[in-house]
Amino acid sequence: MSKYSRYTELVDKYREFLITAEKYIWRNPEIGYKEWKTSAYLEERFAELGYEVNRASNIPGFTAVYDTGREGPTVAVMGELDALVCSAHPESNPETGTVHACGHLVQVCIMLGTAAVMKAAGDDGTLCGRIKFVAVPAEETIDLEFRDRLIEQGVIKYVAGKIEFMYRGFFDDVDMAIMVHADSDPEKLFKMIDGYDGCITKHIVYKGVAAHAGGSPHLGVNALYAATLGIDACNSLRETFREWDHVRYHPIITQGGQAANAIPEIVKMDTCVRATTLDMILQTNVKINRALAASAAVGANVTIEDKPGNLPFHSSKLMNRMFEEVVEELFGKGKVIHGGWDTQSSDIGDLSSIMPVIQPLCMGAEGHQRGDDYRIADIEKAVINPTKAVVCLVVNLLSNNGEMAYRVIEEYKPLYTDKRDYFAEIDRIAIKKQLVVTNPDGSITLDFHNPNYHQKTEHISAVPEVTEE
Ligand SMILES: [Zn+2]
Repeated sequence: MSKYSRYTELVDKYREFLITAEKYIWRNPEIGYKEWKTSAYLEERFAELGYEVNRASNIPGFTAVYDTGREGPTVAVMGELDALVCSAHPESNPETGTVHACGHLVQVCIMLGTAAVMKAAGDDGTLCGRIKFVAVPAEETIDLEFRDRLIEQGVIKYVAGKIEFMYRGFFDDVDMAIMVHADSDPEKLFKMIDGYDGCITKHIVYKGVAAHAGGSPHLGVNALYAATLGIDACNSLRETFREWDHVRYHPIITQGGQAANAIPEIVKMDTCVRATTLDMILQTNVKINRALAASAAVGANVTIEDKPGNLPFHSSKLMNRMFEEVVEELFGKGKVIHGGWDTQSSDIGDLSSIMPVIQPLCMGAEGHQRGDDYRIADIEKAVINPTKAVVCLVVNLLSNNGEMAYRVIEEYKPLYTDKRDYFAEIDRIAIKKQLVVTNPDGSITLDFHNPNYHQKTEHISAVPEVTEE
C-alpha cells in the first residue's frame, strides 16, 4: 500500500460531492468581483465540512484553515472563483454571457476536495503547520469599468483578486501557495510551467472634435482615425520586440464612435503590455505610449490610464519537482509535459513575487480556452487526479516537521522580501495622463513617460537629430 493511499482513497470517496460542486459552478458562472453565488456555495460546503469560514465580506471570496495544531509552515491551496464572458458559448448565461471558458471551476473543486480530504483524514500526528484554503475572486482582467467603480467607491484598491487579497493581509500568514489550473492534452495528465509574462493594463481614450459627418466634417477631428493610426503605430514597433522578452500587445476598441453621421469625438481602447520582466514591460510601455501620443498629434489628443496588471510569475522549482514526483508515484511515469515559459499573465505572478508558488496545469478540458466550444470533458483528469496530487503534495510538504516546506522557502528567492516593497513598486505603475500637451508658443510636446520610472526609461525619448545634408 502506497503511503498516499489513505488520502487518495478519501478523494475517491468524495467523487460525487466534487462532481456535484463542479456541475453547480458550471451552471452558475460569474465574473470577477461578482462571484457571490459561487462563493456562497463554497462557503456552505466548507462550513458543512466543519471549517470556520472567513469571508472577504464586501467582495466575494473567503479563507478557511486546516490547523494540525503543531507549529510549522502554512501552505495555501487556492481556487479562483471567476468565469469569463463569451456569449457565443451555447452554455453561457443568456443574460450576462458568462461561462467558465477558462476552467476556473476546476480549481475551486480541487481546493474543496483537498479541504474535505484533510478533514476526513483527521490528525494522525504526522503533519505540522496549517493549510489555508483561499477562494480568490477576479483573476481575469476584464470588466474594468465595473472594477474602476469599485475602486472609486473604496470597495477595492486593486483590479486583480489576489493582489487585493494580498493587500487585505489574507496571505500575510502564508508561506507558500499552490493552485492547479485546467488545460487540455489528450495524452498527458499535467503540464508544469516555469512562469508567465507580467503585464500593465491600459485604458486609452482618444479625444477628437465631434461634427456632422456629412455636412461639416471639416469642423471635426476624427478620434477614430487617430486611434487606428495609434494601432498602426504600435504595430510598427513589433519588430523591435525581441523573442526572448516575450512582448505582447493586443488592443481592442471598446467604443469607436456613437453615430455613423457624426465624426467620432471619443474612442476608447483597452489593452495590456506584457513581457518577461517588469523592466521590459516598462520600457515597452514607454514605446507604446510614445506611438499613441504621436498618432494623436494629428489634431486629436489621447489620455492613457496605466494600472498595475500582474508581475511576471516565477514557479518554485523545488515545489514543481515535488509535484511532478507525486504525480509519477500516483499515476506512473510519462504523464507530465514541461511547458516552459508562457506568455499569458496572472495575478499568481504577484503572489510569486513575495513567496514560493506553483501553478501546474491539469488536463481534462476540451475546446478553445475562451472559445464557444470550451468545456470540462473529463472530470477524472480535471478534478479527481489533481485533487489527489495536491493532497499528497501538501502532505509531503508538512510531514517530518515541515522539512520539505522549509526547503522550498529556503530555495526560493522572491523579488520582494517585504510585501510593502511590492506594493510600493506596483503603485508606481499607476498613472493617468494626457499625452499631447499644447505649449504657450503653439508647439506641442509628447509627454509619454511615467514620471515614477523616468530615470529607468528616459533613454527611449532620444530621437535622431536632423542635420542639413
Ligand atoms: Zn485562467
